[in-house]
Amino acid sequence: MCGLSLGYVFKPPYFVDLEVYRKYYTDVTEMVSAQLFISQRFKELYDRSGLRGLVEIHRAEIETLRQCGQAKRMQLPPMPDSYIANPQPIGVATDHKLSETEFYLGREPTCSYCRYGSILRQNCFVLDESTWNGDNIFRLLSIGGTIAVDQNFKDWFDDNHFTGIKFIRAEEDSRDYAPGLTPQQYYDRYSIYEKKKKEAE
Ligand SMILES: [Zn+2]
Repeated sequence: MCGLSLGYVFKPPYFVDLEVYRKYYTDVTEMVSAQLFISQRFKELYDRSGLRGLVEIHRAEIETLRQCGQAKRMQLPPMPDSYIANPQPIGVATDHKLSETEFYLGREPTCSYCRYGSILRQNCFVLDESTWNGDNIFRLLSIGGTIAVDQNFKDWFDDNHFTGIKFIRAEEDSRDYAPGLTPQQYYDRYSIYEKKKKEAE
């Protein structure tokens, strides 16, 4: 495992500058890092849930809180205690064959464990179950640490009426960053940097 594929994480102690856009505080917020910002209620129910995958849950100190958008002129209640939760620093790899993944030329996966590369398009998301240790919430190795959950986690999330995350079914999660172009066509048209590099060699 190359480790490049997990995305970056912030280390504790955590100091957060928060921007609130809704008229309420959500229970979970995805961060730019491969971590989750969670509420006290989420943490307490998670601790009792028997679910697996989140480790190292640390208190987050709110340094600043800015109200934006529809929350701008609202009288919000005091912010409840908040935490940052880290999914296990291992993850689950994608079955690129079944997912029908195409990569940018020259940016195909080189690590057979993580199978991380720059994706040009993907028809759906099929995980390689042999790389899954049974955790209910985990990182997706092949797309840089993005967080995914299993059905049990989602059911628990829905049963507790948590807010802040919208789930997409893995098999419906398609992406296409170069509509109508094959990897070769994309390369010929747009990969000026790579071509210049090649010419210079
Ligand atoms: Zn790797």
